[in-house]
Amino acid sequence: MISTKSSTQVEQSVEKKFDVIVIGSGHNGLVNACYLQKAGLNVLVLEKNDWIGGAAVSRELHPGILYSNCSYVCSLFRPEIMRDLELPKHGLQIVAIEGGTVFTRNGDYLASYRNHHAKKRELERFSVRDSESYSRYSRDILKQCRFIQPLLMRTAPDPASFKFRDLSEMLYLLRKVNDLSASDLADTVRFWTMSISDFLDEYFENDVIKASLAVSGIIGTALGPMSPGTAYVLLHHYMGEVDGSIGAWGYARGGMGAISKALSSSFRAMGGTLLNNSEVEIVNIKGDRVKGVTLKNGDEYLAKNVVSNADVKRTFLKLTDPSHLPPSFIKKVNNFKIRGSSGKVNIALDSMPKFPNVSENNPCLKGDIHFTDSIERMERAYDDWKMGTWSRDPFLDMMIPTLTDPTMAPPGKHFMSCFVQYCPPKVFGKNWTKENKDAFGETVIQQIADYSPGFKDRILHMEVRTTKELEEEVGLTEGNIFQGELTFDQLLFNRPIPGYAQYRSPIKGLYMCGSSTHPGGGVMGAPGRNAAVEILKDLNLPSSNIRDAYEVL
Ligand SMILES: Cc1cc2nc3c(=O)[nH]c(=O)nc-3n(C[C@H](O)[C@H](O)[C@H](O)COP(=O)(O)OP(=O)(O)OC[C@H]3O[C@@H](n4cnc5c(N)ncnc54)[C@H](O)[C@@H]3O)c2cc1C
Repeated sequence: MISTKSSTQVEQSVEKKFDVIVIGSGHNGLVNACYLQKAGLNVLVLEKNDWIGGAAVSRELHPGILYSNCSYVCSLFRPEIMRDLELPKHGLQIVAIEGGTVFTRNGDYLASYRNHHAKKRELERFSVRDSESYSRYSRDILKQCRFIQPLLMRTAPDPASFKFRDLSEMLYLLRKVNDLSASDLADTVRFWTMSISDFLDEYFENDVIKASLAVSGIIGTALGPMSPGTAYVLLHHYMGEVDGSIGAWGYARGGMGAISKALSSSFRAMGGTLLNNSEVEIVNIKGDRVKGVTLKNGDEYLAKNVVSNADVKRTFLKLTDPSHLPPSFIKKVNNFKIRGSSGKVNIALDSMPKFPNVSENNPCLKGDIHFTDSIERMERAYDDWKMGTWSRDPFLDMMIPTLTDPTMAPPGKHFMSCFVQYCPPKVFGKNWTKENKDAFGETVIQQIADYSPGFKDRILHMEVRTTKELEEEVGLTEGNIFQGELTFDQLLFNRPIPGYAQYRSPIKGLYMCGSSTHPGGGVMGAPGRNAAVEILKDLNLPSSNIRDAYEVL
């Protein structure tokens, strides 16, 4: 865990006036702070928790065992940012995941492997036709990645503006669309708007294969696999890379907090100041301009620029006095969809769980382990969320990172991460109770135990996180893991709000840099980086230290 000072401990030594204050040490806040500090500004990061990283965090909750408490796998984090900020030098290492598996109810399992040919051979066991379709499917997804990836590290244009930069960005977008053939354009429009279930039906026939691929279409989303718009969510999980391999996922050595740790180390090495236990109560505004912040404990810090890493609702409905904001803006903030749909159960294990029929050394256990073997079952799990409760037969995205990364637990012991869907913001409209939370945790444990005899006896410690804990601890409104849903209506120049998609707000000097902004959630760093470019532009400072996006090969 990162050791940082509390605001009271450093009161004597901290200069209370800064060029920029960043509210929150989520990875986007840290990326933003690094770039601004690197540009020569004096930056202060204020974090409410006594740990850093927001949803990219590693904490030792059981002696000797590190947990990736929220996010658990890495792919989206932009390699350009890693290089700009020299994160490998500050200890960051991403190790590619070897495989994955879906256990089926008839006792079989569908393994997947990083090696394309091994993967195809395994698919053949379930459907020869689907195995053949897999290459076509991979090619079509890659085509969509090529279209979207260059947009991640560009500020979205404002289509209602006649400024030169907006017109030229619109032209860039139009050129990209124009470069598509008529059939590719039709495919792209369909892909952005259709359900993942319909999309997969166009390639595959086998239920288990479709279930294994549909996962990325529903992760973190308050939609089911049959809801329109979920095909794009799948793309959001495919457009990352590990070591240049597009679509690959990896483990950050030391858990996801290793990313935040490397960022904070880079930030401090450049002379930046980071304070934990420093919850911002209110952003201070004079006239139409920001002048600093006041903490919950009454401490005041001055700065002409304040950047919020918190989500758009928290930023403008809680941290800003509404009298400074136009009512139409507040209305749009209220309308931003941010419904939570996921929970997490983190488990310390005394020994490696057994899964009958799969040998302990099979690389498929080193990746995502699923028990939902049809899209129908996923949709039923979503039905429970719609009714207002957690899924009785949840979808789990389960990992045992310690099979790949021995730094997270002592030999023989393991950390198991279970991402759980679906988990509602409230239970039948009421606040979560301790009994609800226990029952949610038990539902998850029971599902694993159904496939892994003796599982419960291996448990040393469990951390159950419903949407309530995600909201209270990480600050994610309604527990939405992406700081706002990644549906088409909330992307690009509409994210988070039309007219305010360029990281600025109605108040001069108050900016946003979290996942609520373009290009959205996931441990990607792009919102933090893009916001830094805009802030430097406003301050007439060069952003030549910030490299552009690489070409997708
Ligand atoms: C359970 C879960 C699983 C996930 N799994 C993955 C995954 O495997 N891979 C992936 O790529 N993405 C995953 N995600 C999504 C990803 O982690 C988030 O989208 C991303 O980390 C958000 O980063 P951020 O910097 O934008 O904001 P956050 O991480 O939300 O950071 C905001 C920060 O602001 C702080 N803050 C809020 N209010 C205040 C205040 N008033 N004063 C001071 N500080 C404040 C918070 O404490 C927090 O540190 C997951 C998220 C969750 C919750």
